[in-house]
Amino acid sequence: MRGSIPGYLRPHVEGIEAYRREISLDLYLRSSGERTVGDRTIHGRYPELNDGRLFQTALEAGDLTYARALLSMFITSRLVDANDHLVAARLGTVVTYDGGEKVPIGRALAAWRAASTDDERRRIGTALVPGLEQLAAAQRQWLDEYGSIRAALRFRTQSELVSAVYGDVRAWLRHAETYLASTRDGFLREAAEWQRRDGRGRTTTFTAFPIRGVPLPAGAVASDSAVRRTAATWGFGAEAQRIPIDLVPRPGKLAGALCGRIDPPRDVRVTSQPTGDSFEYVLLLHEFGHGLHFTVGPDRPFDLFGDDQAITEGFGITFGTVASEPGWLREFAGVTFDDESLARMRFGDMLSARLQAIHVLYEYKVFSGAIDYEKEFVEIYRRETGIEISPHLALTRMLFFLGLQPFYALALYQAYGFRDALWQRLTEVGGPTWYANDRCHPLLADLFRTACERDLTGMFGTLNAPMPTAGAPR
Ligand SMILES: [Zn+2]
Repeated sequence: MRGSIPGYLRPHVEGIEAYRREISLDLYLRSSGERTVGDRTIHGRYPELNDGRLFQTALEAGDLTYARALLSMFITSRLVDANDHLVAARLGTVVTYDGGEKVPIGRALAAWRAASTDDERRRIGTALVPGLEQLAAAQRQWLDEYGSIRAALRFRTQSELVSAVYGDVRAWLRHAETYLASTRDGFLREAAEWQRRDGRGRTTTFTAFPIRGVPLPAGAVASDSAVRRTAATWGFGAEAQRIPIDLVPRPGKLAGALCGRIDPPRDVRVTSQPTGDSFEYVLLLHEFGHGLHFTVGPDRPFDLFGDDQAITEGFGITFGTVASEPGWLREFAGVTFDDESLARMRFGDMLSARLQAIHVLYEYKVFSGAIDYEKEFVEIYRRETGIEISPHLALTRMLFFLGLQPFYALALYQAYGFRDALWQRLTEVGGPTWYANDRCHPLLADLFRTACERDLTGMFGTLNAPMPTAGAPR
């Protein structure tokens, strides 16, 4: 963070910048598929940063954002083997379809998500079960390894670690609960309507929801051009020029997208891939939004160390939301969707916000003690989304962010609250189509910089908005 650096961190600022540069570059190259094997030598070069002592010092000083960032270094450095084992297990797990055809589990999962009929989804889903069960053994081993790394820091349970680095999270748990309860009936009604319209049964899985985008018509503007022109319209043309966008398909490329903050503000890169539907714009605007934040906000890499993930993701989600606006789609993507497509995209956004609340409650319950994590997973999805999710996806879901942050679901849920407050402010300054003019340039530039200095509470104050937990939920 920018500003006065605590005494215990001051001698390590350059080391932290060098370490982060190496980790971020390695992560970026693996995600873009340019590097297939991670560099195992990095962590050994920075023992003073990842032996757990600086983390303890930050914790004792009550500097929670630094504590979370240092915890991430500690955990990442110790998970190298466990991560490699999990990747190997995933590559080694093969699914056999009923016709005898064998495919790697990653491809089967992708085919299952893309299945267009209930029958096809059920057929692939049935074949997936033994593969997911086989993978579960490796996932549990990863969790055991994670547990012993946590125990080395003297945290018996994950909820103890979460309370230590996030403070009291009960207000947010209550907020998520109230949000789900107050929107449940309306959501379930609309979900049932989409399922009926799409001819899908109630037994379909979570991926049957229209959370992906609407297919792009021919003549749609390439996502990288659309995103660059958007940034230029906001007055960030020069900064946008410095951020490369990698859309090259490579075998080892990550399924999603990533913004690598390698040496911010100078070396920030985005890697993604064309999906051929409107989600491509959402994804790229989200990541490129991170790119602008990391390029405009900091003066040096350390300014981003200990950034509040809720704010950082809040920016990304806000800019991703722009891609569901008919005005943006028309002007920047050259696409006019019908009302049903726009409604589908809005429902997708509502579902995304709901899933964050679900994951906050689900994960915290699992973190707190011995419960049947598969049964709980199925029940909360059934209650809150009206669909039957496979219990075999519970572990995959839980492991998704755990190696990165102890409770990332919370940051993502908070990020939606931040998005709503930020959108309100942007609309006040730039009008309802703020994304199509440059009136928000000074505000955004200022917020990107302020985000390097403040936590979530501070940023809500900057926006003149109440903390969501202070009043009635959204
Ligand atoms: Zn993001």
